[in-house]
Amino acid sequence: MAVTGRAPDDAAAASTRSPRSRDLISFALGAVLGLMLARSAPAQTPAYDLVLRNGRIVDGTGSPWHRADLAIRGDTIVHIAPSIPDRATRVIDVGGRVITPGFIDVHTHAGRGIFDVPTADNYVRQGVTTVMEGGDGSSPVPIGPFLVRLEALPKSLNMGTFVGQGSVRVAVVGEANRPPTADELEKMRALVEQSMKDGAFGLSSGLFYVPGVFTPLDELIELAKVAGRLGGHHNSHIRDEASRVVESVQEIIAIGERGGLPTQVSHHKVIGQANWGRSTETLRLIDEARARGVDVTIDQYPYTASSTGITSALLPTWSLEGGFERILQRLRDPQTRAQIKSEVVAFIRTERGGGDPKNVVVAYCHWDDSLGGKNLGEIARLRGMQPNIDNAAEVALWITERGGCRGVFHAMSEEDLERIMRHPATMIASDGEIPMGIGFPKAGVPHPRSYGTFARVLAVYVRERAILTLEDAVRKMSSLPARRLGLQDRGLLRPGMKADIAVFDPARVRDAATYDKPHQYAEGFSHVIVNGKIVFEGGAMTAARPGKVVYGPAKAAPVP
Ligand SMILES: [Zn+2]
Repeated sequence: MAVTGRAPDDAAAASTRSPRSRDLISFALGAVLGLMLARSAPAQTPAYDLVLRNGRIVDGTGSPWHRADLAIRGDTIVHIAPSIPDRATRVIDVGGRVITPGFIDVHTHAGRGIFDVPTADNYVRQGVTTVMEGGDGSSPVPIGPFLVRLEALPKSLNMGTFVGQGSVRVAVVGEANRPPTADELEKMRALVEQSMKDGAFGLSSGLFYVPGVFTPLDELIELAKVAGRLGGHHNSHIRDEASRVVESVQEIIAIGERGGLPTQVSHHKVIGQANWGRSTETLRLIDEARARGVDVTIDQYPYTASSTGITSALLPTWSLEGGFERILQRLRDPQTRAQIKSEVVAFIRTERGGGDPKNVVVAYCHWDDSLGGKNLGEIARLRGMQPNIDNAAEVALWITERGGCRGVFHAMSEEDLERIMRHPATMIASDGEIPMGIGFPKAGVPHPRSYGTFARVLAVYVRERAILTLEDAVRKMSSLPARRLGLQDRGLLRPGMKADIAVFDPARVRDAATYDKPHQYAEGFSHVIVNGKIVFEGGAMTAARPGKVVYGPAKAAPVP
């Protein structure tokens, strides 16, 4: 078909022109032909809305790529074949780039930023088309009103949520360190059930945080059972990712095994040099559990630094009970303060502090923008102290007294990271958020994972280090998370699936966000498509807002 002088994108439009009209010499002939043309008009309407030509299809299953065209009608993939010559409203020649399912990020805190930045540029520009809110035990409760608000929001990507065990417990028991009464347990069960029926994908827990840290295993199992009965799974920020990482993974397996539902270790990692290497043990436990029929899976981000609140990371949990005022009271009592400080020193020396004040970096403080990007040693100096571990602990207490800051903690090994990434049950998830955007003055210096996770896996762990094949990396970003969520119509390139698609150049894809300069978008993606609509193209977000709320099994396909 002649497409001379036109960009490949416009090939289909060119092919619709008919040169025959100039051959008509009589009115009668013209009328007859006009009738014929009118009759054949239905056949002339483009067969497809969008065809991607000339792609390397990585379909999400892990199968080797194959060269093909892909056709979309409405919000659905309708055809994939070596050649799709039919006319389409729009044709894009992707020139041999890789076409994959849009990536599904099962662990984000995107609920914070989606209402400010509904284009979620940081995610879309690395190929992410669906994000899940509500991890780490923290979600809106009840989730119904949140999902109603999210439905009303025009947005670029799809979003769903879990219900958080911690938030459920706060709503019923508060932040107290005590078991619930029978009545309270019943109320918590009812809240989980309601949230599942409202569309949650399962129950998340954050056993490292207040009040997850106060929640005994049996109580967790009782709530997990409710989510499981309604088709959901459990996922968890485990109790301890450092010296007790093995026992903590065992607990997540126990929740799945005794609760009778799939279970997942969120952002699996091993913190603290003394514990490095113990992923061998945690992965063995997971393999053994899977072998006896427990459906346990893992998610992970590709960085050796973590990020969370400095207070929750570095202060002992007993000192955090009862809310901010109670914490301040404890810090005012010299003896209690000394006790807390000695434990903070230990956490900096051997656990999340990475053994050195420079390994704890402030991401942002709502009460002092200037601290973003400075490490505990630098802040100690600013406060007239030597940058040693003892003074870094003082700085952590000072930060706590002022209301806390988020931090970035460099305390993991590359070896554990790669071992966990290679595990077949590991999927990729950012644990990130939607930042206020590039150029926003109060954006701080957050962990780069929000901008770079998926691109970094493709650039560093596929292309540079060959830890994963491209096909397996894509599987970990698409079909594996889709299966875990029970999303039946996303996560694969197949006719009938929703047209959530990423197109990128595997030789150029890379994460640009660094620890020092995190506010930088990933590179190498040429097109991102959500529900059949192009949301990113030519280096910019488009005006389309096709993102949908996705619903968990009890709402998407309720058992009659
Ligand atoms: Zn977490």
